[in-house]
Amino acid sequence: MPTLEPIAPALLPWFYKNARALPFRADPTPYHVWVSEIMLQQTRVAAALEHYRRFMQALPTVADLAACGEEQLFKLWEGLGYYSRARNLQKAARIVCETWGGRLPASYEELLRLPGVGEYTAGAIGSIAFGLPVPAVDGNVLRVFSRLYNDPGNIMDPAVKKAFTVRVMEHQPPAAPGDYNQALMELGALVCLPGGAPQCCACPLARLCRARAAGTQLGLPVKTKPKARRVQPITVLLVRGPGGWLLQKRPDTGLLAGLWQPVLFEGALTRAQAAAALADLGVRASLGGALPPAKHVFSHIEWHMAGWYATAAAGTAPAGCAFAGPEQLRAGYALPGAFKVYKALMTGGSQG
Ligand code: SF4
Repeated sequence: MPTLEPIAPALLPWFYKNARALPFRADPTPYHVWVSEIMLQQTRVAAALEHYRRFMQALPTVADLAACGEEQLFKLWEGLGYYSRARNLQKAARIVCETWGGRLPASYEELLRLPGVGEYTAGAIGSIAFGLPVPAVDGNVLRVFSRLYNDPGNIMDPAVKKAFTVRVMEHQPPAAPGDYNQALMELGALVCLPGGAPQCCACPLARLCRARAAGTQLGLPVKTKPKARRVQPITVLLVRGPGGWLLQKRPDTGLLAGLWQPVLFEGALTRAQAAAALADLGVRASLGGALPPAKHVFSHIEWHMAGWYATAAAGTAPAGCAFAGPEQLRAGYALPGAFKVYKALMTGGSQG
């Protein structure tokens, strides 16, 4: 397929005029770009902004991130989900401190070796913060190129992604690799929208776009459907004791590793089974009213939650558990977004 005429002359002026004023754009140090890019993976910009501000206030340098405690780190990450991203950030920060004196390396290959840094993130840090001529190809960029070239290749196929990346680089101006990469992402986020809604009339590349000329943009990009998620029923128990609500620490590996949660059991337990499971855990409690059902969607699994309030007779928490009052719940313990509904009930102080 012949290369299009250069897109940067139309794309960059559009970007300079329309780029959103994001806090990490005002001061794109390697650390700022890195943290923001990790936060933005699987999180909307609006949701990441407040977290980013709080994070940078609390941990302004790589060394601060390397040194902070796990509870503080998870608290700063609370609500963003995918907590392994926070763990990897800290692991990488420690490597950066030990190996690079606290400064991220100005090398795409070395960045790629850091935990949690894939090709896209290494490309974003490399091009935006260091001005390296490297690609940063995310879903937005794949969609834009699929349409620009009217290419029906399946963007989930690594060979197709590689071929698209070659095209992205053919158009990258050597003097502005970071601006060009950001401009493509911004175009995908603001104009060349997914879900059959590209705003072609507002697009700086409309004149060049082959899908627009062919009228095929709504059917692009082509991608294989992800597998259906598994549904996992979960029984939740909000157990109140003299010292507050009973929290459980999750195991150190697997889903939501190391985070806190209300007492829960896998499976849709009956009331009698839930009471027995609680007793097996070492908690003497009587069950009260039913909790509202809640659902949380992870990438491959859906939790369908329901359960009961319970009142514990004693204030001693079994191993791996702790009682927390509303204030500790708000400020001390990081509860994943999966438990938003139940956290609101616990911090609101209601009890069934
Ligand atoms: S013209 Fe339309 S389909 Fe083509 S790149 Fe622009 S917004 Fe996307």
